[in-house]
Amino acid sequence: FQRMKDGLSRSTRTISDGITGIFIRKKLDRATLDELEELLIAADLGIDTAASVADAVGKDRYDKEVTPEEIRGIVASEISKVLAPVAKPFAIDAEKKPFVVLMVGVNGAGKTTTAAKIAAKAKRDGKSVMLAAGDTFRAAAVEQLKVWGERIGVPVVTTKVGGDAAGLAYEALARAKEEKTDLLLIDTAGRLQNKADLMAELEKIVRVLKKLDPEAPHATLLVLDATTGQNAVNQVEIFGKIANVTGLVMTKLDGTARGGILVAIAQRFGMPVHLIGIGEGIDDLQPFDADTFARAITG
Ligand code: GDP
Repeated sequence: FQRMKDGLSRSTRTISDGITGIFIRKKLDRATLDELEELLIAADLGIDTAASVADAVGKDRYDKEVTPEEIRGIVASEISKVLAPVAKPFAIDAEKKPFVVLMVGVNGAGKTTTAAKIAAKAKRDGKSVMLAAGDTFRAAAVEQLKVWGERIGVPVVTTKVGGDAAGLAYEALARAKEEKTDLLLIDTAGRLQNKADLMAELEKIVRVLKKLDPEAPHATLLVLDATTGQNAVNQVEIFGKIANVTGLVMTKLDGTARGGILVAIAQRFGMPVHLIGIGEGIDDLQPFDADTFARAITG
């Protein structure tokens, strides 16, 4: 909890200090509630959540003395209520050999790093893991995955730069089946500049995977960068349309005051949120827990 709280310290300070500023030595009335609602909107929680949280805070408390601690507690519990239905652990089904995971998201969101983090954790849990460098357009992305693979001791399937990502995915799955690998993580390109191309490429990857395993991919994780704020909301919308996203990972919650965006996304899309990234290190990935997150961002 402390690590996540430290990681989320900037979001925490925004909401926590804001609440103190609004409610210290004040009664709760329409003006203070409006200020609270504005604070929550500024913290990226989204208009609907901000309004419902402010309503919950106001209920039965009009014209009463309140303390910032009390308000923080109520805000945390209301945020937790929004997040609880979407907080789902990322489960790797041991029956599938391999369990195939497609990593999608825009360039720079943290797909490659997150794939490596998931691989490292699975390896620590005793699973055999394989990585496929499906972002074949960027030499740096392939190189980065290779470096991670070496560091954590996991094989990385690659092809030449500009090579066919679907062919690579097919080859990786064939090899993972043969080697009875538990988990195959496939990185993909994230060039949103040309949505039609990207959609065609993702569809093709899925199509060829299904030739070897009709149920693959078993999970499609959309990786979102928390620091992009409202852009993350647009990305859920776009990738929700072009890929069969099964769950979300939000990265870079350590470097941002915009952790609240996850609440807006939860409220608006209701998609499962599995994991959060709180640093660049291999261990800086945590399961998403509604209550812990809510308490961490409200201070
Ligand atoms: P990709 O283009 O989606 O594959 O993104 P990368 O995995 O290459 O990540 C882009 C940058 O974000 C890299 O410098 C990563 O180290 C960094 N990054 C990824 N996840 C996190 C995180 O949770 N916290 C921080 N601070 N940086 C992260």
